[in-house]
Amino acid sequence: MKRITHWIDGKPFIGDAERHGKVFNPSTGAQSGEVDFASVAEVDAAVAAAKAAFPAWRATSLAKRTATLFALRELVVAHAGELGDLIVSEHGKVKSDAAGEVARGLDVVEFACGIAQLLKGEFSENASTGVNVHSLRQPLGVVAGITPFNFPVMVPMWMFPLAIATGNTFVLKPSEKDPSASILLAELVAEAGVPNGVFNVVQGDRVAVDRILTHPDIAAVSFVGSTAVARYIYETAAREGKRVQALGGAKNHMVVLPDADLADAAEAAVSAGFGSAGERCMAASVLVAVGGCGDELVERIKARVARLTVGPGTDAASEMGPLVTSEHRDKVASYLGIGEGEGASVAIDGREPKIAGDPNGFWLGPCLIDNVTEDMKVYTDEIFGPVLSLVRVDTLDDALGLIDRNGYGNGAAIFTGDGGAAQRFETEVDAGMVGINVAIPVPVAYFSFGGWNSSLFGDLHVYGPDGVRFYTRGKAVTSRWQNIGQHHSSLNFPSSAPSGQSAAGGK
Ligand code: NAD
Repeated sequence: MKRITHWIDGKPFIGDAERHGKVFNPSTGAQSGEVDFASVAEVDAAVAAAKAAFPAWRATSLAKRTATLFALRELVVAHAGELGDLIVSEHGKVKSDAAGEVARGLDVVEFACGIAQLLKGEFSENASTGVNVHSLRQPLGVVAGITPFNFPVMVPMWMFPLAIATGNTFVLKPSEKDPSASILLAELVAEAGVPNGVFNVVQGDRVAVDRILTHPDIAAVSFVGSTAVARYIYETAAREGKRVQALGGAKNHMVVLPDADLADAAEAAVSAGFGSAGERCMAASVLVAVGGCGDELVERIKARVARLTVGPGTDAASEMGPLVTSEHRDKVASYLGIGEGEGASVAIDGREPKIAGDPNGFWLGPCLIDNVTEDMKVYTDEIFGPVLSLVRVDTLDDALGLIDRNGYGNGAAIFTGDGGAAQRFETEVDAGMVGINVAIPVPVAYFSFGGWNSSLFGDLHVYGPDGVRFYTRGKAVTSRWQNIGQHHSSLNFPSSAPSGQSAAGGK
């Protein structure tokens, strides 16, 4: 049985493994490995390594840090297939989708290669006579990332490339459901020339998370996962005086206006609703049919789903893989019965899917629940599986109101041929990421990713310019190299106002 353990101070760290978890291949249902769960002492060892590595790493020149990031970029490209295979084997998504995940993580490494430009400060000459002011951004110290199962490569890469590029050292706590990719990432980071201790991985569960949240030497925590845990992370880490960004769950609405290209919209709904078996925080989970276009959408979605191949991620013909665990599959499937009990109708039932694969896999085919209303549990809960709910409304106003009243606010999309409606949607919709005729509006790496409301606790989004801000703190320096020795003649508060005496004695 494969054993997956920690990575501390540039090498694998075999812990006491008093506690461990099971890792499964979701396509076969068989256990494929065992992952160590870190104790408090093991988290402390990782943080100690990161703390020890920080002074030298923050003093490493931008040129050298940039060179290691370029090397990491090459290594991720060279090992993209291997990373993808690990994702497929423990998460279950199909190979082409796993390749997309690796590519989106790589985008952030490429953005981080421009760190020299991104870290440039500002300078004002002669703010007061002979007095110059400049600003700089400095790293925080040891920072941590806690990540979910659904993107075992991409979400860690939303965090650590910028965290280390800006001069911090990093401790990653990946999901215990698909931990292997984190160790390959650690090997690549080491091979790229990042010094020992700059990047560490602790595997585990709540014990490891709680130690991260309260460890006095951790300055900041980035979290991505479900809303309940995100709220807990935000509250706990903030109380401990840490900087926090905690991204939570989602219920993304895809609004279709009757003037949209309905064939295109139906294809997009199938892709965004059932891709990665709906286990994406940016998956479309509520389809909002405006002004009577619902029936045609249902028919088109049914026709597409009839041709959709569900099977193991290793099979090139598979378009959708299994769910991550049998418990999660059962929970997701239970929403069909819940929806029927609430008065909705099951238009596509995926509970007995035809699979070209091992029947013991954690399978659930695409599901469409029609006539869903706002009060139903299938509408209010994040289901996080291949279950699309269809809500029918009369107007764009109704659709905007629906999204506004929903507690989440990650992504929202509109499909329309009307630029005015799209512009209104962009302005008024209550969500952090908006798609216009784009169903999964995940921003490119040089923008930042983040939702609103219960989809993000904290001020700054991840990666892009917000990522640079999150992992650095500002400093403003006022300096004088002229008239040194000239005595200050006033005890007034320093000012550069013409009548006052400035801090530096200038006027
Ligand atoms: P999760 O919240 O169960 O787990 C996320 C991380 O928190 C894991 O590392 C896990 O070990 C840890 N954890 C779980 N329960 C904990 C607890 N009680 N106390 C402390 N730590 C705990 O999420 P998941 O099931 O791995 O991932 C799916 C969720 O993540 C979905 O809700 C999805 O919407 C969300 N997600 C959000 C985004 C986003 O960008 N907003 C991106 C990806 C996933």
